[in-house]
Amino acid sequence: MADLEELYREIILDHYRSPRNRGELESPPAHRVEGFNPLCGDEVVLSMVVENGTLSDVKIAGSGCSISQSSASLMSSAVKGKTVAEVHQLIHTFKGMMSIHEAMLGQDGEVVDEEPEPIDFDKLGELAALQGVVKFPVRIKCATLSWNALAQGLEEVAAEAS
Ligand code: ZN
Repeated sequence: MADLEELYREIILDHYRSPRNRGELESPPAHRVEGFNPLCGDEVVLSMVVENGTLSDVKIAGSGCSISQSSASLMSSAVKGKTVAEVHQLIHTFKGMMSIHEAMLGQDGEVVDEEPEPIDFDKLGELAALQGVVKFPVRIKCATLSWNALAQGLEEVAAEAS
């Protein structure tokens, strides 16, 4: 497992040092969402374009800790060009990975005997690198910040279109 952890660490560092899809899109036409994690001070500004049911472009701005920044970068490369339905599926899978250990640990930190939903790691690809974050519960909000902003953005875009 040490090698895998090393690989995961390298993926996270790589996305932190060379963030993908960095910047902002002109809004409008792009939809803009801001997210803030007061626990750590992470900020994310997400601009996205949904065309014909596809998330055709996404850019990330903002600043914060290495986990929040690399998670946003990993997310942007994972979701860009995917259909909205596929993006929703990925958000669900990712948040499942982030909440799994949280759900297994009860309120007082005792282990709750509950069978977790299996995670499809093949579908996650490089995103699986972030699974180590669940060992540090205070960082989970760092990792999910951009994903929550993305989910909110998709909801707002859908509401505008209807
Ligand atoms: Zn953070």
